[in-house]
Amino acid sequence: MSDNFDVIVIGGGPAGYPAAIRAAQNKLSVACIDEWKNRDGSAAFGGTCLNAGCIPSKALLESSELYHRALHEFATHGVKLDGVSFDVETMQKRKGGIVRGMTQGILTLFKGAGVTPLTGHGRLLAGRKVEFTGHDGARRILQAKHVVLASGSEPMPLRGVDFDGERIVDSWGALEFAAVPKRLCVIGAGVIGLELGSVWRRLGAETVVLEALEQFLPMADGQLAKEAARHFRKQGLDIRLGAKVTAAKVEKDGVHVSYADAKGAQTLVVDRLIVAIGRRPFTRNLLGEGTGVVLDARGFIQVDEQCRTGAEAVWAVGDCVRGPMLAHKGKEEGVGVADLIAGKYGHVNYNAIPSVIYTAPEIAWVGQTEEQLKAAGRAYKTGSFPFAASGRARAMEAGAGFCKIVADAASDEILGIHIIGPMAGELIAEAVLAMEYSASSEDLQRTIHAHPTLSEAVHEAALAADKRAIDIPNR
Ligand code: FAD
Ligand code: AMP
Repeated sequence: MSDNFDVIVIGGGPAGYPAAIRAAQNKLSVACIDEWKNRDGSAAFGGTCLNAGCIPSKALLESSELYHRALHEFATHGVKLDGVSFDVETMQKRKGGIVRGMTQGILTLFKGAGVTPLTGHGRLLAGRKVEFTGHDGARRILQAKHVVLASGSEPMPLRGVDFDGERIVDSWGALEFAAVPKRLCVIGAGVIGLELGSVWRRLGAETVVLEALEQFLPMADGQLAKEAARHFRKQGLDIRLGAKVTAAKVEKDGVHVSYADAKGAQTLVVDRLIVAIGRRPFTRNLLGEGTGVVLDARGFIQVDEQCRTGAEAVWAVGDCVRGPMLAHKGKEEGVGVADLIAGKYGHVNYNAIPSVIYTAPEIAWVGQTEEQLKAAGRAYKTGSFPFAASGRARAMEAGAGFCKIVADAASDEILGIHIIGPMAGELIAEAVLAMEYSASSEDLQRTIHAHPTLSEAVHEAALAADKRAIDIPNR
């Protein structure tokens, strides 16, 4: 095998592997290096997302939601069950099968595209040389015309709270529980904390979520966050805001979690503790001497708008660079860079990156919130439509939530769409497309939406922005 490549990608997660595939599609010779090892010691491409993030979490969210619905909703449909039970082992096996299938699929994609997969550690050296140390310990120096760094992120640790992989775990550990903990605490009411808390709550864990901030989901539209908090609390998630965790210790009777809130110092004793306080860029042992690649104060690899690092022909994409830590953001950056390397057009529209929280109800948004527009002093109008007025949502027994559109008061350009309700994560795709094409709310108003579908909520919200909604009174 040659040690010279047009492109070497370090990291095979959702930012790195698409970069490698697109570069190969662009007729460049490509190697993709990834060091991920599963708990059983096996190597796997796919990074955090496929192995320990997006995919396994969604698998368990689906299983736990089905159980929850069987328990609480089926009877409403007239579907009677003589007792409902679940089996965590089967859920975990199903999840493992999905993860294996998806991660092995990447190797098939690499083979089809002609990407050389290399399992082991990659380290960038000066002059676009890459030191590759295989999992077998063998070391080689590779040479590339371009290097793409896609080393991802890792869970943020919390001082005073040491992971033991058993009682105190990170998000990966929380996806591997073999049994439902009776008492569970999640530190951090962010996206990951809420999704993991939901999984185990639905399966019966008494779940407390401790969040340092006073505000719930501050990055989301205020109305959405309020509606979400109401539903989550109704589901039994005990969300405590303004609760800053300072320490945790494993004792005989459980994990003692110390936190401070407005009333002073508090202690909570639980069987399992999940630390989900965010993620930080992962660049350990990635950069040798004199590469010219610079990290910023928070440890992210510094890049420009087009993901160029300071070093010539060295690029960085995904969680290891600025911007939201989302798989689809990394994918677009990876693909964009691979096209730029080939002299083609590559661009990421950072104003139209959707965010999704896969809870029930689901939450999704794109663009700006009302709060952001108010702060910016921009004149806007809004239109909302509740899923309670959607025939399809009612038929699905999923009438909770709403769709809200925010548009410029003068030009009518859509500035943001915010959805809480059934399949919000799927519905948001229309909103993203609309924003990508700089659509106006009138454009959406004039677009025919099939009846009865959930997407009619987006249509009606757009109509409501001009007080022309048909299926709700206009205020
Ligand atoms: P990663 O996926 O972290 O991949 C980086 C890869 O590079 C890893 O395999 C790592 O081992 C490898 N690597 C690092 N350094 C080296 C080196 N020097 N040599 C060789 N290999 C190296 N995002 C979403 O968009 N939707 C979701 O639903 C979602 N759910 C999530 C749920 C959980 C529980 C978690 C933890 C995350 C979730 N995310 C989700 C975030 C998503 O996983 C990340 O944004 C995404 O994985 C980032 O992709 P990446 O390629 O930049 O990095
Ligand atoms: P995210 O960054 O979206 O994954 O969310 C992580 C959440 O954890 C944020 O809302 C933080 O405010 C919260 N958080 C961080 N540190 C602590 C802490 N010590 N105690 C409780 N919550 C915390």
